[in-house]
Amino acid sequence: MADTPPFPLPTPGIHVWVAYLTARCNFACDYCIQKPQMIPGQRRKPWGKYQELTGRQWVEALNAFPVRPEHPLILTGGEPSLHKDFAFIASHLDGYALDLTSNLTFDIDAVAREMRAHGKQFVTSFHTYHPKFSSPAQWLDQAERLRDSGLVAKPTFSMVGLQRFPHFRDDEHDRNLAKLVELADRRGLVYQFNEFRGTHMGEAFNRDHKYQIDCTSAWVNIDPEGSVFNCQYHLSERKHTFGNITRIGECRPLPKMGEWFACSDFGYCDPCHENSGHGAFRDQHGHVFRRTSNDARVYLKWMEPAAIREVARRYLAQGDGAEAEFALLAAIGKQDARGENAAETWADLGVTLYDNQKQRQALAALLHAIAHGVTRTETVAGALLVARELGLVDHARATLLPHLPAATMATIERALDEVRPLAPAGV
Ligand code: SF4
Ligand code: SF4
Repeated sequence: MADTPPFPLPTPGIHVWVAYLTARCNFACDYCIQKPQMIPGQRRKPWGKYQELTGRQWVEALNAFPVRPEHPLILTGGEPSLHKDFAFIASHLDGYALDLTSNLTFDIDAVAREMRAHGKQFVTSFHTYHPKFSSPAQWLDQAERLRDSGLVAKPTFSMVGLQRFPHFRDDEHDRNLAKLVELADRRGLVYQFNEFRGTHMGEAFNRDHKYQIDCTSAWVNIDPEGSVFNCQYHLSERKHTFGNITRIGECRPLPKMGEWFACSDFGYCDPCHENSGHGAFRDQHGHVFRRTSNDARVYLKWMEPAAIREVARRYLAQGDGAEAEFALLAAIGKQDARGENAAETWADLGVTLYDNQKQRQALAALLHAIAHGVTRTETVAGALLVARELGLVDHARATLLPHLPAATMATIERALDEVRPLAPAGV
């Protein structure tokens, strides 16, 4: 009698089995890690079209696996609840410690009823608030409903920690997030901030070059058609599949955690892989590493100067003057390279430098802005005020006079005298 081949999927608990029920999502977050590149302002799209397995196919395949007792299995997507048989799948899987990631837009009561009827419950779940796609009150209502429904034993509610990444925020985002934090605190919902996993080895998750490397991983990723991959990049590219869960007998064995395999796609990896603690890489010198750098500055290279000025404004408002200064210099560099007038950006830089207590550079930046056409009262007044602080009023006047009428400057100076008189000479 022929030997039965060993079960091809690693079964130790450390292996994270993930069922991507669908590639579709009803939201389109621009910081979603399921994008080919982490370009600010570019929204997530489904990474491909699939003939999704039906609920019955998922359940029949997964329930036939010898993984008991209670192997961890995450139901995810996209948004997994968009799968037409989501409740059926969740309530008919046997022998799994079920986990769920969801943006909470589904009918919680209906799914909870169905799972209760089958004596089932998710063990854990993960729900992140996405401020551009649902109002704080709506999301909080859903979070409380889920927490109180018994659908999940230990749900986790979260927000993406984008404080250091204003590239992916706008006013609506900030307003909704602040409101949610206020409401959640008042209503007693426990939440956490997640690390933003948008960079890869200090680069902007940019997929612009590949390297040969050794990789090890504890992922078992199953795509919406049931094909098995060891990482999200290979899943979304449908590359190097090990087989399909509906024909598990034909599946090649997946490497175990700690078992190294060669991959020439390093550089295109998804940012989850190593950050989650479930994977690592080894370079040609035998050095084992995970991604650690998370440098927000890398995103500026993709942004237009106007958008970078917005980023700088947000940095300045949250007290990150050094980042604001760096961003504005990057914007000026871009504008100069294109032969564009950067005067407005110089004016922003002047204000930022002043905030960073670099008065001399602030004055130089403001005078430069005015000389190149920014003659608004507040910019001129700002330059004169800094000049007064530095005892350089004559120099400032001499630089300004060719660019604005003497009468205008005299009016601004008189107004300044009322709020901040000139110090007597010698003081
Ligand atoms: S809800 Fe989640 S999966 Fe959908 S776009 Fe936003 S981050 Fe991506
Ligand atoms: S090196 Fe990157 S692309 Fe290659 S298998 Fe590992 S995670 Fe996937």
